[in-house]
Order: sequence, then structure tokens, then C-alpha cells
Amino acid sequence: MPGFEFWGDEERKEVNEVLETGILMRYGFDGPRKGIWKAKELEQQICKQMGCKYAQLTSSGTSALTTALAALGVGAGDEVIMPSFTFVASFEAVLSVGAIPVLVDINSTLTLDPDSVEKAITSKTKCIMPVHMCGSMADMDALLQICAKHQILLLEDACQSFGATYHGKHLGTLGHAGTFSFDFVKTITCGEGGAVVTNDENFYKKADQFSDHGHDHMGHDRGAESHPFMGYNFRISELHAAVGLAQINKLDRFLSIQRKNHTMLKNILSEIPGINFRNIPDEGGDSCTFLSWFLPTEEATRKTVDILKEENKLAGNFYWYINNWHFHKKWDHLKNGHAMYPLHEEQKKALLELKEKDFLPSDALLSRCISTAISLGWKESDIMEKGNAIVAAARKAMA
Ligand SMILES: *Cc1c(COP(=O)(O)O)cnc(C)c1O
Repeated sequence: MPGFEFWGDEERKEVNEVLETGILMRYGFDGPRKGIWKAKELEQQICKQMGCKYAQLTSSGTSALTTALAALGVGAGDEVIMPSFTFVASFEAVLSVGAIPVLVDINSTLTLDPDSVEKAITSKTKCIMPVHMCGSMADMDALLQICAKHQILLLEDACQSFGATYHGKHLGTLGHAGTFSFDFVKTITCGEGGAVVTNDENFYKKADQFSDHGHDHMGHDRGAESHPFMGYNFRISELHAAVGLAQINKLDRFLSIQRKNHTMLKNILSEIPGINFRNIPDEGGDSCTFLSWFLPTEEATRKTVDILKEENKLAGNFYWYINNWHFHKKWDHLKNGHAMYPLHEEQKKALLELKEKDFLPSDALLSRCISTAISLGWKESDIMEKGNAIVAAARKAMA
């Protein structure tokens, strides 16, 4: 999965070019930077590789989500439909613009269930936010149809799925806007960083302004620029962008290694009696950062996890059901509205109501699901060893 496994001379060269000029900021200093514009160059590469018109880099995937929501005009009291299985950043961003996160169930794609989405739509629904978890995709045809029918915005959180496609189009580029994360453990990394992508010039301009205090970026004198809207500082630095530039040039290599390793591991795990794999709406577009699989029962899954743990072989296998960060069951801070500052009434009320909701279909799925992270550095013998250990543990658990 993570690009940090392949850190090397390419990254050092790009970073050194920035260190030579000493211009660490992405805007201004046109003379002293001697033609070095790493953030701009990375944005162009993202557009080229993702096949979209516009990309705006940000300081993180979380700030990319906040920026995208702001650019789309999502704010106070608006409802954003998001899945019960995602990283906490998804609801953090929604809350940060004053909007209300509406959690709904996932299906066997491990992302938004279109039927649950449709049932959750109200007159306040402004945006649907599918999260393409673990390298693969939501049922985008169904979600795009729902958005068109109800005239709702679609924001793709593709933070975990850089390089994955859906019927030939890159995840992140199918909706009104999409976001990527380049934090340290993502498909490619900047150390920290993120991006908003869109094909809409108006949304792009707003994302560009919002992520830099509202600056309109017109002309060549930063101090003289005006600010049509309020914004924040969510800028990426040139040093981070330089790392990302080296990494994006290796993306195709990362994806082909992931796909090869994924296929081999999947073949081995297929031996487990009663195993099922995640439903992938477009199998060929999976970026294969993870192999996600289901055992027949929660009991068998818990036992398999326990056995792997006892044998010190659990590393790289994620049992999201009991994980602190990715599943609604451990989001007590959200459900209790534990902010450090007062929330507005409508938001607070919606959060406290979350406590009364259950997500039984999501629980039924994730209690039986394990995601195995695919490493770039594995040798064939590593895959056999890891795969066989999992098969043995699952067989023992079900004996
Ligand atoms: C990593 C991640 C984010 C946030 O990205 P950061 O760069 O860590 O802020 C958002 N959503 C999902 C699904 C993620 O996995």
C-alpha cells in the first residue's frame, strides 16, 4: 500500500532542488525560486494522470475535504450523507464547515449502500460523500443517478484510492469534486498533503482561494491581491510537494506491484472454506492497496484475529469492527458531541441523535471482514508465508 516503502534518490533529488533555492513556499518569490514550482508541477501531474481539468493541493486530505465542501457551498445546517465505515476525517471536515454528518449503512462494496442513501435524503441534504475505502470503489452509477435525480452534490472522498478507476475514469473525478490524501501511509505520499480535484472551473477557483486565506491569486504581487471570500491557510509547502512529485512518477509501478501481489494473495486465501471477497463494482479498477475478505461468522473472524495475534502474525491485517478510528462503533466522541468549543444547536442535536441509531447491516458485514494491506516490498515467499498463516489461522478458527 504505502509509497513510503519506495523512498529513494528520486525523492531526494526533488527535495534538494527546493533546498538549493531555499524557497519553501508555493506562492510568490518569483525571482529567487529560479523557475522551481513543485506544487504547481505536482498539480499538473495530478490532472494529467487522473484525467481531470483542475487540481488544488492542500496541507492534508482532511483540509482537502474541508476545502472541497467550502468550494461546493456546503455549510451551516446542510446535511452530508456519509458512510458508517470511513476515517474520522470525513465527519471532521463536515463539522468544520458547520454542516451535519448523516451516517448511513455500507453494503458489501464496503462503501455507501445506495438504498440506504436514498432513504436518508431529506430537504436539507446538500451533498453525498461516498468514501472509496481501502483502494476500491463505491457503486458510482447508482450514486450518480441518485444525485442527479435529487439535484444533490457528489463529493468523492478518494483519499485511500489514488489511481483506482471506475469504468475507465479515475475515482475522485466522477462527482462534482473529489479529494486525495498524501499522508505518510497513503498510496503515494508527500509526508503530509492532499488535493481537491474537479472539472468545474468555479469550484476549482474557490478551492484555490479558500486554501490560501481567500487570496484571488491574480497578478504578481501577493500583498496586493484581493480576497473575494474568507478562507484559511491549508497550503502545502514546496518541500512536501517535491516529495509527491517524485512519488507520482512511480504511481504506475506501485499499482502494478500491488495488483500482482493482490492476485497472488487472493489465490492463496481462496482456499479458506466459506470465504467471500469484497464486492468490487469494477474489478479492473481496484488499486489493490488492500485485499478485503469475509469469513462466514463473527465468531470465526474474531477467533482468526486472536490466533494471528497469538502467533504474532496479525500485523497488516485490519479488523475494522473493533478499530478505534474507522468504524462508527468507536466514535463516542462524535455521538456525544464532544467538541472543545460550543457547537451550534442544530449540529449538536443531530450528533446526539446518532447515539440512538443502529447500523445493523454495517455491523453484520464488518464483524466478518478483515482487510489485509498489500505491501510493495513483498517477495513471493513473503506472500506465501503470510497467506498460508492466514489460511491456517482461519481453518483452526473454524475447526
Ligand atoms: C487518510 C484519509 C483522510 C484524511 O487524510 P489526511 O491526509 O490524513 O488528513 C480522509 N479520508 C480517508 C478515507 C482517509 O483514509
